[in-house]
Amino acid sequence: MPRLNLVVLGKQGAGKGTQCKRLSDAYGIPHVSTGDILRAAVKAGTPLGEEVAAIMDAGALVSDDLVNRLVDERFKEPDAKRGALLDGFPRTLPQAEALEELLGDDGIKLCLNLEVSNERVIERLSTRRVCQECGNIYKDTDIEAISGTCSNCGGDVIQRKDDTPEAIATRLGVYERDTEPLLAFYESRGLLVVVNGDQEMDEVTAALEAAVHERGLA
Ligand code: AMP
Repeated sequence: MPRLNLVVLGKQGAGKGTQCKRLSDAYGIPHVSTGDILRAAVKAGTPLGEEVAAIMDAGALVSDDLVNRLVDERFKEPDAKRGALLDGFPRTLPQAEALEELLGDDGIKLCLNLEVSNERVIERLSTRRVCQECGNIYKDTDIEAISGTCSNCGGDVIQRKDDTPEAIATRLGVYERDTEPLLAFYESRGLLVVVNGDQEMDEVTAALEAAVHERGLA
């Protein structure tokens, strides 16, 4: 079976993390989120974490070179032999070009774009709470968010520092400027599929899986 490398695009709060977890289980390929890798480094207090913490808190992007190296390393791990679900990467044209170079012929099979309105995203992000350990996502009204304890792993449920109104506005601006050009990049390669991310989560998952199956990829 050739590698199943899928890029999932969409604004912050479009539901990429949730959908990637589901598709990762369905297809047996790892969910590779550069945001998760960077947050783990910040939490562990590594030199990399110290370098990127302030940039991430402000909602700006860390350098292309740095994330390209992280992804390069991640693809060397054995579980990525069957492919990967890329969440939050690539985020700029130079990253997309670096990814093509890294994967070569066995490249990206599909780019799934979760389309959502800014209003929806702002509402979702400002009420979002996240488990620091397993990444499970809750709403501020969920018992896990109120108690601060994840029902999946017992980890701390917190509000991300970049889910504040200022950082959300910055992140949406950065997305429009740096990441939206990737839609044309993948469309020109015949790889772009647009899915309505405003639907119920299960409907979004079904639409994503249908796109993968229609192309005989899984
Ligand atoms: P995310 O969890 O994908 O929203 O990422 C959180 C933050 O990590 C972003 O706001 C950036 O500061 C940083 N980050 C994650 N992925 C990338 C990337 N591919 N390029 C640059 N910065 C990134």
